Amino acid sequence: MAVSDHVNLEQFMDGVKRRNPGESEFHQAVYEVASNVYEYIADKEIYHEAQILRRIAEPDRVVSFRVCWADDNENIRVQRGWRVQNNNSIGPYKGGLRFHPSVNQSVLKFLAFEQTFKNSLTGLPMGGGKGGSNFNPKGKSNNEVMRFCQSFMTELYRHVGEDTDVPAGDIGVGAREIGYLFGQYKRITNRFVGVLTGKGLEFGGSRIRTEATGYGTVYFMESMLNRRKASVDGMTCLVSGSGNVAQHAVEKINQLGGKAITLSDSGGTIHDPDGIDAEKLAFVKELKNKKRGRLTEYADEYGCEHLEGRPWGITADLAFPCATQNEISTAEAKALIKNGIRGVSEGANMPTEQDGIHAFTKAKILFAPSKAANAGGVAVSGLEMSQNSARITWKEAELQTLLKDIMTGIHDSCVEYGAEAGSDYVDYVKGANIAAFIKVADAMLAFGVV
Ligand code: NDP
Repeated sequence: MAVSDHVNLEQFMDGVKRRNPGESEFHQAVYEVASNVYEYIADKEIYHEAQILRRIAEPDRVVSFRVCWADDNENIRVQRGWRVQNNNSIGPYKGGLRFHPSVNQSVLKFLAFEQTFKNSLTGLPMGGGKGGSNFNPKGKSNNEVMRFCQSFMTELYRHVGEDTDVPAGDIGVGAREIGYLFGQYKRITNRFVGVLTGKGLEFGGSRIRTEATGYGTVYFMESMLNRRKASVDGMTCLVSGSGNVAQHAVEKINQLGGKAITLSDSGGTIHDPDGIDAEKLAFVKELKNKKRGRLTEYADEYGCEHLEGRPWGITADLAFPCATQNEISTAEAKALIKNGIRGVSEGANMPTEQDGIHAFTKAKILFAPSKAANAGGVAVSGLEMSQNSARITWKEAELQTLLKDIMTGIHDSCVEYGAEAGSDYVDYVKGANIAAFIKVADAMLAFGVV
């Protein structure tokens, strides 16, 4: 009998915690997957013998580096950069870059771990990675952001490549930053290849990449509702965040006939019971993407309430957390349930605390975990990679159809592995974890001990 045999879940998690001290976000992400996978592999000896779970929870590689740059006042600034290459069993590492003061190794390890499973669910050949820096783009001039991005890429370029590792955007990394990063990669290497996704349309970007995460999150909700003979049409929706994902979630909610009544940023929440229609959304896009302003300006413009904190105390039918991790506490999850929420679709990565997820699943509301619900973004990134490799561009209509099909496919995989016997309830968390695990694990088995 192999030494690995039959370590139980608690012992497994004790080991993860011992080997990764202080990395609470990483522990949380591993536990969330392992708790479902343990049950699934209980009678499947081969996964135990090959120590698959232990190997997936150990990143292939974590690269950490110094990033020096000079601000506009000629002060030298020193930041830390990372790239976590978690697992490339089913394709090149793929996952975004996050620039935010809260970034640390634990956050990036959790994101890279999650990304491995999310990418597996898309059905596309992509492994999992994530990277970023504790650099805060807020309040920096364009020149400062450019100098930082150039310095960051001057180290990162040696670890990435179109067939090795293909980063993209995330919090604090949008079209502007991707442009600066790609420009520097091209300058250093003298190669024009698909090494980053989320690029501008003029230089190899894909149509609907910008919209894909937010749209996909709402499509996933629509699939869950359709299964119960309902739809987003006519539903009031809480949306948090006001960046890329939140903006496009609101856009798709509007297109499907729903009504989004909130948005938030790190300064608080706007509550607009009349709904954030297309015109108001255009104001938000201008405010956030160009002026880089605060949502208080929305409240002033449209005369609605601006509340401290997050939107989860407000009564509505559906919730779309689209800001950041752990933004729905357990108490807030319980408040949502008490106020009659019917469904939650996670646009952000791991926005609900562990016990909050348990509260949702116990209450049997429709709950779509981030690795399934927000996979639309990376799916279209995968399609951007294909277009770059073939040196072609697909039309918007084709990509819209592919995105919708991929989200429906992910929904159906979750149903296959998460449907509760004898009822119409689907545990989407369990379904997503098991469906994603099987593909990565079976590829790892095929490679032997590597
Ligand atoms: P953006 O930077 O465009 O927007 C992030 C939004 O969340 C902003 O409104 C920001 O507020 C708010 N926010 C960030 N951190 C905090 C915090 N600690 N407290 C309160 N508000 C906060 O990021 P994205 O929209 O791209 O990403 C949002 C989430 O979606 C992240 O979890 C990301 O990992 C996930 N995601 C994104 C994908 C994409 O394609 N972009 C793909 C898959 C997942 P403020 O304006 O004040 O900074």
